Formats: sequence, C-alpha cells, structure tokens
Amino acid sequence: MSNGQPLDSDGRSLLDALTSGALAVDGEGLIQYANPAFCELSGYAPSGLLQQKLADVLKLPPKTDCALCMSACDPMNPQWATFHGGFLRVENSSGAEELRVKIKHSPMQNHWTLCLVDPFSEDTTLTQAHSDFVSTVSHEFRTPLTSIKGFADTLLSYGAQLPDEEKRRFINIIKDQADRLIRLVENLLTASKLGASRVEMSYRPIPLQRLLDKVAHSIQAKIQAKTGVARNLEVQVRPADLEVWADADRLEQILINLVDNAVKYSPASSTVHVLGEFAPNDDSQIRISVKDEGGGIPEDLLPKIFTKFYRVESPLKQEVEGTGLGLYITKSLTTAMGGQIFAESTPGQGSTFSVILPAATPEKQAAHRRKLYATEEGE
Ligand code: ADP
Repeated sequence: MSNGQPLDSDGRSLLDALTSGALAVDGEGLIQYANPAFCELSGYAPSGLLQQKLADVLKLPPKTDCALCMSACDPMNPQWATFHGGFLRVENSSGAEELRVKIKHSPMQNHWTLCLVDPFSEDTTLTQAHSDFVSTVSHEFRTPLTSIKGFADTLLSYGAQLPDEEKRRFINIIKDQADRLIRLVENLLTASKLGASRVEMSYRPIPLQRLLDKVAHSIQAKIQAKTGVARNLEVQVRPADLEVWADADRLEQILINLVDNAVKYSPASSTVHVLGEFAPNDDSQIRISVKDEGGGIPEDLLPKIFTKFYRVESPLKQEVEGTGLGLYITKSLTTAMGGQIFAESTPGQGSTFSVILPAATPEKQAAHRRKLYATEEGE
C-alpha cells in the first residue's frame, strides 16, 4: 500500500476475505473500494459504489459526531468516531430500505480510511446481558467450587492430624457449598424453563400457616448452621386457617426467595416479619408480605430488581451470595399462578415485598373439579 493508493492487490485480497462489509475511503471521503461482503450486504454492484461519497451511502442518526460519515471530513485533520451506529441504504427485490448497521473506521496510509460495516443485530444489545450473565454465573460457581476443593484438599492432606471437631466443620462447609451449587443450578434451570414457558402448575388449596412455618423453619436451620445463631423471624397468619390457591412447590419457592432476601439484606440483629392476610377489600385474594429492616432499595431501581441477573450496586453485592435470579423467578412464578408482586422500600429503613394470590375459595375448587372432570371425560 503506497503512493496515494493504499490498497494494493494484497490489501484487496485481505478485504475480499473478510466476512464484514469493508469500504476503502480516500481523503475526500469518496469510496475507492468495496469488498464482496459489503456489496452483498447493501445490494449494490461494486461499480455503483465507486467514487460515491461515503456520507451518501451510510445514513447516520442526528448527533453522530463522525465527520467522515457526515461528509464534513477534513482529509488533513480527520475527526471521525472510530465506532458508531448508522443506517445503510439497501437495495433489494422489494425496493430500497434502511438497514441498521455498526460502523468502525480505521486509519490507513495517505489519509485513507478503512470502514467496516456489519448489520446491527439484537445480539449486540444482548452481548452486555450475556457477558453479565457469564461473569455472574462463573463467579457464583467458582466461589463454592474453590471452597469445596480447598477444604477437600486439606482433609486429604492433613485429615489424619486434625481433631474430629475440625474435620466435621470442614465437611459441613463442603456440604453447604455443594447445597449452594445445587440451588444455583436449580435457579438457572427454573429461569430457563420460565423463559420457555415450560413450567407446569398443579393447583390445590394450601394452608398458609403451615407453609410459612415450614419456610421459616428451613431458613432458620440454614442460618443457624452457617452462623450458629437464630434470626428474629416473625410469622403471622390472620385468620390462621387462610388457604391459598396455588402450586405448593412454586409458592414455597417464592416465599423462600423473599424471606431469604429479607434475611440476606438486613442486619443480623433485626427482625423479618412475614404476614399472611386477605388482600385489602378483597376476600377472594390473599396478600403475603415479607418486611425487613435492612438498607432498602432506591425507588428508581425497584422496577429493575425483578429483571434477570439484576443486582443493586452496593458494597453488599460482593459480600452477599446471589445471582440476581431470585426475584425474576419469584415474579415469573407469581404471575404464572395468576398473582401479582409489589416491592416498596425506604432506603435506610427497609423493604416490603407483597405477593397477592387467589384464595382457595369454594368457587375456585369447584371450578377446578369441573375442569378435571371435563378432562377425564374427554379422554
Ligand atoms: P440476588 O440473588 O442477588 O439476591 P434477587 O433477584 O433475589 O437476586 O434480588 C435482586 C437484587 O435486589 C439483589 O441483588 C438486591 O440488590 C436487591 N434486593 C432484593 N431483595 C432485597 C431486600 N429485601 N432488601 C434490599 N435489597 C434487596
């Protein structure tokens, strides 16, 4: 590449081999070469592109600060953005249309510019979510795995010299970390099933007091195994015989997620309150609320916490185990069972998560029996 002709035959062969569309643009902003991938993408014949102004081929959204694409290029002092989005006029069988593209410029010799053009796909927006997912999930896998491997190595190398009590402590840590991995895998599976709407529900009346006691008991046992101290967890159901119309396993999963979060994101000395009652002014619905006295969540972030993999940026994020999947799963399961979920929070004072689900009224049960009967008849 030399003498005002930065593209020799080697340069052309190189561009011809690219799967990205490539244009070589001279110092006047005129296209001097287009590779086959660009011609295919745009529908232009190479001859139709040569000597065209780049700015006439690529249309840019207002406010783009790329002088080259905007046709205001000073060849001696190029002021172009090296990477930006734009639109390409595409000629196809149904006429002309504008294709959203990513544009990348690289300087060549003698004020020529190489301009790479690729179709903009939804993948570009997914890339960030995908890389967040990979980094969250690999961190969440690596932490327990490192701990399991470390304690297993120690037991193998020095087990014979360690007192029994110490050995038991190490084995408990290994078990806890394995449980953490199982929970993570289960959450990932549930999230992917929810994404594909493959979760099947089996509805029945569920006595709320019994279920909340079970949830509180399992969380209390987990905390106690971890810290050796019980947590203040207050459960109240009024009237005590309330029954929810739901899938028992899914409702348990919802409640575990909410109570687990309340415990995780509030001080060990504070109390978590769980309350089951009829929804205000509506005896056909039941409201279950989980209230904590933790740091809370800023109001503008409340809608985001229900999205997949979202975790509020805070010093707690690194310290507290989590993937940002719990509330996504909780909300998806709640809505799949015909319910709603709300979060209220006052930063510095705490948060309340409320789930509203149908009560197991005689009408619900009769309708369910009729449906079952009709299915059996149809078989
Ligand atoms: P995680 O696995 O990170 O706990 P969740 O989906 O359950 O994921 O929650 C998403 C984020 O919402 C959490 O990372 C946390 O920042 C915030 N959050 C959830 N519950 C609470 C709570 N009770 N108090 C404060 N922040 C909370």
